[in-house]
Amino acid sequence: NDALRLTGVVKTYNPGLPSAVEVLRGVDLAIAGGEVVALVAPSGAGKSTLLHVAGLLDTPDRGSVAIGGEDMTRQSDRARTLARRARVGFVYQFHHLLPEFTALENVVLPQLAAGARRDAAEERARALLDRVGVLSRAGHRPAALSGGEQQRVAFCRALANRPGLLLADEPTGNLDPETSEQVFAALMELARQEGLAALVATHNLALAARMDRILRLEGGRVVPG
Ligand code: ADP
Ligand code: ADP
Repeated sequence: NDALRLTGVVKTYNPGLPSAVEVLRGVDLAIAGGEVVALVAPSGAGKSTLLHVAGLLDTPDRGSVAIGGEDMTRQSDRARTLARRARVGFVYQFHHLLPEFTALENVVLPQLAAGARRDAAEERARALLDRVGVLSRAGHRPAALSGGEQQRVAFCRALANRPGLLLADEPTGNLDPETSEQVFAALMELARQEGLAALVATHNLALAARMDRILRLEGGRVVPG
């Protein structure tokens, strides 16, 4: 089963209006479990739109989105929301960690919300933070962390509830090359250990080249890079 499969996905903003923008014009892609795939495209090409549709944050006008082999296209909003929470992790250019909580709590809280016990959630959070080299920062609030540390914690939070799929939108976009490298290494380590499928939108061609595969978004379609 593919972790993610998009078939014939079409998405237009402001359909029927003079301001209509046909962003996705028939996107087909499939990502297997354990595969880390780069999505490369110029700004404005529709990467964020594609990630939002793939992550069930937005619905396509046509075509289908299947996650873990299950077609989510015609499911209820409620079913899609539950599937998103359980099966998809998101990371953005900015970390979006909760500023008043420690790094550890930021990774614990989504697990509590999903019904985990506190001791199990803390154990899981420490293991994740340790794997990406930020366990020593567990007791600090996000503002006390460097940009690279913040992003590594954001990955841990995204993966806290063991989603099969990670969607990352320019996760190293704000970081210098050396820090990008550290954050990228953390992503690859987590993906390997968790058997995770990841789709990573990036402008960083050097990092893209080291992922399992490159896809380009061009003219509203996805083509091999
Ligand atoms: P990228 O992430 O590749 O920069 P986006 O998916 O954010 O691209 O946007 C693709 C195109 O769709 C852009 O032209 C953008 O202005 C337009 N767009 C994005 N979101 C909306 C929206 N909610 N309403 C209207 N146009 C939008
Ligand atoms: P990025 O590609 O870095 O995510 P964008 O500038 O493409 O940033 O868009 C940021 C967000 O703003 C998008 O996710 C989209 O939802 C929204 N957006 C972009 N363009 C428009 C637009 N023309 N009208 C309304 N919302 C938009």
